[in-house]
Amino acid sequence: MPKENPSTSIAIIGGGFSGSMVAAHLLRAATFPLDIKLIERNSLLGRGVAYGTYSPYHLLNVPAEQISAFPNNPEHFLRWVQRQKDTIGDFVTSEVTANSFVPRKMYGAYVEAILNEAETTAPDYVHLERITEEAVAIEPGHAGAIVSLSNGQSIQADRIVMALGNFPTADPPIQDRSFYKSIRYKGNAYSAQSLTDVDPDDSVLLIGSGLTMVDLTLTLFRQGHRGKIYTVSRHGLLPLTHKTTPACTPFIAIDQAPKTVRALMRLVRQQVESAAAGDQDWQAVINSLRPVTQSLWQTLPLGEKQRFLRHVRAYWDIHRHRIAPEVAEVVNKLLSSSQLIIHAGRIQAYREDDRGVDVTVRKRHTTDDIVLRVNRVINCTGPASNYEKLAHPLVNSLLSQGLVCCNVLKMGLKTAGNGALLDETGVASKFLYTLGPTRQGDLLETIAVPEIREQAMLLAQELLSRPNAPDTSLLRTVVSQSNSKLVR
Ligand SMILES: Cc1cc2nc3c(=O)[nH]c(=O)nc-3n(C[C@H](O)[C@H](O)[C@H](O)COP(=O)(O)OP(=O)(O)OC[C@H]3O[C@@H](n4cnc5c(N)ncnc54)[C@H](O)[C@@H]3O)c2cc1C
Repeated sequence: MPKENPSTSIAIIGGGFSGSMVAAHLLRAATFPLDIKLIERNSLLGRGVAYGTYSPYHLLNVPAEQISAFPNNPEHFLRWVQRQKDTIGDFVTSEVTANSFVPRKMYGAYVEAILNEAETTAPDYVHLERITEEAVAIEPGHAGAIVSLSNGQSIQADRIVMALGNFPTADPPIQDRSFYKSIRYKGNAYSAQSLTDVDPDDSVLLIGSGLTMVDLTLTLFRQGHRGKIYTVSRHGLLPLTHKTTPACTPFIAIDQAPKTVRALMRLVRQQVESAAAGDQDWQAVINSLRPVTQSLWQTLPLGEKQRFLRHVRAYWDIHRHRIAPEVAEVVNKLLSSSQLIIHAGRIQAYREDDRGVDVTVRKRHTTDDIVLRVNRVINCTGPASNYEKLAHPLVNSLLSQGLVCCNVLKMGLKTAGNGALLDETGVASKFLYTLGPTRQGDLLETIAVPEIREQAMLLAQELLSRPNAPDTSLLRTVVSQSNSKLVR
């Protein structure tokens, strides 16, 4: 390799699953001098929100055989986890098989191990620098861009991957927001502090009834909780249970697919009925939709996408993002003993006193209110995705410069097919790319490992196909003119 060639530099902001996997693919596949800077504000790489969980009881929501980090090596995770003989006992009590649901903590260690191995085996003209800082701004430079860090330093990079992932949950909208400052309210369900100091006999309200709520319910159960666990969500729907079953034969061809949500739903229902007649489970039908979901989403007109989000998404989510059978067993046990109680409705008000808080809930499709008396309220409504409302300095800086723009559905940012971010005029960036949850509005299904692992591999290939630094000097002028227009 000609070492005298100047290195290309790629900065990756965010060292969760997305950022770590892009870095690993770059390290494995680069054939020219490359400097990779992986910027992560937390000390551990490969974790992010999902795999940095404090609890060994929080399990992956798919079996070990389905969650390899490499799309073309499906058994990679299973083989890795089975080799961890020294540490595996801290996480699981029985042997891990293809159908085991492994703790998410273990998956974080797996991603970090992939990165470490890719670094060790990379050619000597490819370097990885790990930077433990928060990136707070990006500005186009003469070539590529400059990333500013919270410690005041800056980094020049030819291209930048924004792997920012999941943002803190937004507080549920309510007129009087004063309760959100209370010690009884925990806005971040993923933090270990959300359940500290909970007395076993306390009543707890979990807002949201999805996977995060299930995680917390499981933790409460494992710590011997005896008090009531209430859950409030708009639909009051719980994630359904996994069943090991192969996907059925694909039944929707993209070019002939209906363009309305109603017709699509009819097709899915018919397929579920005929699968049942042939002794197959509905899970097989849902699994068969995975490879075509992004394309189906992209062919739907905007109004139909909005209709889906309003009326169907809650049902789609519980069928699509399911829970391990052993987790479902705990949830069902708590439900049948009435320790766990689910309400469909919206929170109307909080009234706190010295001993607890009364939470008024308007029951779904009624004008009836119920009041729940609890000691703690935990927000489990999932990561925020409206970038316009985020308090994230880097995102705020990019939006205000017009270098990126929000998806029209207010779910992430607008992107091109190759992962390049679109600027406020709709032009694909030559130096800013993204993957994972940021592309939710464009792709719908882009937050889980099977989609992200594919994107990470393709994005690395895309970046490696463009070794030269892009000329962004013109862009700087255009953007500053457009901003001055905005200011005027
Ligand atoms: C609780 C939970 C459980 C999940 N469970 C599963 C599962 O079982 N199976 C599955 O397939 N999928 C699961 N997912 C979905 C999916 O795997 C994750 O969303 C995925 O890990 C996303 O990875 P990411 O790197 O894009 O984002 P994240 O994991 O959120 O990582 C982003 C990283 O960027 C860093 N960062 C952000 N801004 C900056 C900045 N300005 N400067 C420096 N660093 C920054 C953050 O600190 C963070 O580490 C789960 C998601 C969640 C939230």
